[in-house]
Amino acid sequence: MTAQLIDGKAIAQCVRDEVAAEVSRRVAAGKSRPTLATVLVGDRPDSAAYVASKGKACQELGMGSVSQNLPIDASQEQVEDLVKQLQSDRSVHGILVQLPMPSHINEERVLSLIGIEKDVDGFSPLNIGRLAQKGRDPLFVPCTPYGCIYLLEQAGVKIEGANAVVLGRSNIVGMPAALLLISRNATVTVCHSRTRDLPATVREADILIAAIGRTEMVRGDWIKPGAAVIDVGINSVPDATKKSGHRLVGDVNFNEAKEVAGWITPVPGGVGPMTIAMLMKNTLRAAQIQEA
Ligand code: NAP
Repeated sequence: MTAQLIDGKAIAQCVRDEVAAEVSRRVAAGKSRPTLATVLVGDRPDSAAYVASKGKACQELGMGSVSQNLPIDASQEQVEDLVKQLQSDRSVHGILVQLPMPSHINEERVLSLIGIEKDVDGFSPLNIGRLAQKGRDPLFVPCTPYGCIYLLEQAGVKIEGANAVVLGRSNIVGMPAALLLISRNATVTVCHSRTRDLPATVREADILIAAIGRTEMVRGDWIKPGAAVIDVGINSVPDATKKSGHRLVGDVNFNEAKEVAGWITPVPGGVGPMTIAMLMKNTLRAAQIQEA
């Protein structure tokens, strides 16, 4: 292996330790305990697991958490009323509505009820718009792309002036990742399902962020020697040697890419742990903003 492994688990733990220390300082100084409210509509097991892990992280870091679950047949009005109530509750600093919601719920209308100062997911058009404008900082940066940039910075990868390629243009990962790279003075190419020659474009990348959800699609011979590779993909593949019968792999063929890249994140243990760590960081920031 020639690439340096970027250990997301260890870096996420450092972020969590810093957040926990600041939370305890705040509380000891008589300030409010940063509190995250989660809203889950329905009973999707994956969504329930994500919400539970966010609540657990809050507990571990000494933060407050409020978990609100509504049944799958909850009406639009019920979901909106709940979000409005959390929005006006001064003891709640951040609101996270777990997506996707059942198909009869208009997600955009629900999300629009979260004020920018409680939008710890960073998905509101106001936060994304500020991220896209020069000289206008968002209050919150979406957690997964924030984690990607944080990993690059911690690994000492030079972003300024680099050619960066982002695979994927979703609202939650690809597009904000591209905006963050531009804000740090990289030259950015965003690829998607209609991009003509993906391997040729990727070969130009000093920094590659892969977020397409396609099992090990990026091959070793697509990688520029010495590039920094951040693999956001989480894909499940059958594996009879595992108790669960499956294992998780990324969008990049790790075994091939690690022989060419300068830095690389593993899956699991790369970007994954960063997402919740950055959510905790955002929730602390929400409490700080709201008392200012
Ligand atoms: P998404 O909303 O499905 O977006 C996928 C993007 O990839 C789209 O822009 C799509 O292009 C593009 N794409 C799909 N197939 C492609 C192909 N063959 N060639 C080129 N581009 C292609 O996915 P997402 O929510 O951004 O998530 C991406 C991956 O990251 C998934 O594996 C997801 O599980 C993972 N993820 C991980 C974390 C974490 O915490 N680690 C968090 C979020 C997501 P079009 O726009 O043209 O359709």
